[in-house]
Parts: sequence; C-alpha cells; structure tokens
Amino acid sequence: MRVDEVAAPQTVAEALAILKRRPDAVPWAGGTLLMTVESAAFGDKPASLLDLGGIAELTVINRSDRYLELGACVSLSAILALPRSLSLEPLRGAAGLVGTASVRNLATIGGNVAARGSFMTCFSALACMDAAMEIRDASGSRWSSIHTLVDEDGRPRFPRAALLTRIRVPTAPWDAASVHPLGMAPRGEAYPATFAAAARFEKETISELRLLAAGKRLVRDRALELSLVGKRLPLSAKDVDAARSAARDEAIEAELGAGPASLYGTYVASFLASIQEEGR
Ligand SMILES: Cc1cc2nc3c(=O)[nH]c(=O)nc-3n(C[C@H](O)[C@H](O)[C@H](O)COP(=O)(O)OP(=O)(O)OC[C@H]3O[C@@H](n4cnc5c(N)ncnc54)[C@H](O)[C@@H]3O)c2cc1C
Repeated sequence: MRVDEVAAPQTVAEALAILKRRPDAVPWAGGTLLMTVESAAFGDKPASLLDLGGIAELTVINRSDRYLELGACVSLSAILALPRSLSLEPLRGAAGLVGTASVRNLATIGGNVAARGSFMTCFSALACMDAAMEIRDASGSRWSSIHTLVDEDGRPRFPRAALLTRIRVPTAPWDAASVHPLGMAPRGEAYPATFAAAARFEKETISELRLLAAGKRLVRDRALELSLVGKRLPLSAKDVDAARSAARDEAIEAELGAGPASLYGTYVASFLASIQEEGR
C-alpha cells in the first residue's frame, strides 16, 4: 500500500466530513489487517488513510441491563478483559482466537467486522448473537442488524464511505455456546473460516438455536435450525447425523472448501451432542 495522505480526525463528525470530501479514504483502526492481508488489494495505487485512532468516542464501552455497547475502536484485548460475569460467549471465545496478545492489543472489533474481503473471526460470533451495528455516513446514522452486512450471495458488503461507530451486543445468556476455527485457511485466504453456535433451552427443549460458519461467505442453514428448534433433549443420534450432513452440504455449496465444510459438519454434530448433556 502506497500512502498518499493521512487525515487524523478527533471526532466522528470530523471523520464523516473527511469521508464526504474523500469517499475513497480508507478507515484505519488498528491497521493489523490493512498492513497485512488487505494491503495487497491496493497494489501500487496511492491510498488516502483516515486514521480513527484519535477519536475517543470510538473507544467507549457502555453497559445496560440488556446490552453491551462497544465503540468500533475497542480493542479485542479490552473485550477479553471485560468481567467474566458478563455473558459474552461466543464473542469472547472468538476474540481470543485472533492472532497473538500483541495483535489483539492493536486489533479492533470494528476492523474485524468491517473487513472487506472475508468475514473475520468475530463476525460469526456476533451474527450468532444478533448484534446490531451503528453505521454513519454523510446521510446520517442508522442502527441495523449485522445480517445487513451480508449480501444475497452470502459475501461481505460493508458500505463505502461509511463508518462503523458502535456495536450493540445483547447480553442475555445462552445456555450453550461454541466457537472454533475451521482448520487451515484454504488457498487464497489468510485466515480459516470460523464456526460459531449458540442455543437456549426451555423445559428440556431447544427454544433457540444458531449454527453458522463464516469465511469467504457466511453459511447459515435456517431450515436446519428451525427443524431442530422445539425438539426435546436429548436429540436422537439420527437427528444429530442428519444435522452433520446438512451442515456439511450447505458449506460445500457455499464453497467453504471440502476440509472446512466437513469440519463444520463435525462441529455442528458435536455442539448438538454437547447440548444434549447440558440441557438435561
Ligand atoms: C499475526 C496476525 C494474526 C491474525 N489473526 C487473525 C485471526 O485469526 N482472525 C481474524 O479475524 N483476524 C486476524 N488477524 C487480522 C486482524 O488482526 C483482525 O481481523 C483485526 O480485528 C482487524 O482490526 P483492525 O483494527 O486492525 O482493522 P484495520 O486493519 O484497521 O481495518 C480492517 C478493515 O476494516 C476497515 N475499518 C476498520 N475500522 C472501521 C470502521 N470503524 N468503520 C469502517 N471501516 C473500518 C478498514 O478500512 C479495513 O478495510 C491477524 C493479524 C495478524 C497481524
């Protein structure tokens, strides 16, 4: 990446004014993805950077009874340092999978969610948790579901000339949650896709279930989830096996790669088997 110009706004309003003048300016948060994987996409073209590091309001963490609100520039280390009493799985587990401790000190949650090329590790966890995103651009500010950042083809679609400013994560506890990297990254991808799952039970019955994988594309089989919601625990071996095959087939169709797709099926099956025990 050849840097042509750097703007260092102190407020979100200033950053938006710069983006209005230079819609091609590239938001720079921790820079850990831009300096590595995304840098190649710029080639030798001069890039204009919008450094978000001086905007204090983007590093605020707020808590209410029902939500945790994270400024987009909150680091992954700061998320991992939040009290264990706060119900944050599977996000906490996903944040812990990213890089090393020194990478996580720089890496922000906003940079993880707003990555352009692939869904990064925290995306599947936040999608499981139905997180909401505050996105601001020249036309104003709006809250929308994280699912609006996925296009019809299951690929990332973060809007151009826009800033992710806050992420609202519901903190109602899940009875079971899980997150795992899906093996080695396939050729052409820097990081492996990530499996994330969460479930709630009521009276030994599955009342809510999320099963996802996210890499180049997001894989979520709502028909499979719905077929399992309402089932009594423990699930039959037949149901668990059918879920493994359905999940694997869905991931193959989404071109996650044969290895990750098969691992995804295995994690779906082992998550469903584990909730049999916990739900009893
Ligand atoms: C050694 C190493 C290992 C890594 N391992 C992993 C891994 O296992 N899993 C993983 O997910 N990542 C990994 N990463 C990549 C990276 O650390 C994370 O994805 C990180 O969360 C990105 O955050 P950042 O603040 O550094 O983003 P940046 O690099 O600053 O930005 C990333 C992208 O998001 C955009 N952006 C950033 N903030 C905003 C905003 N507020 N609004 C709009 N757009 C924005 C940028 O323009 C850019 O396109 C690794 C990196 C390194 C160096």
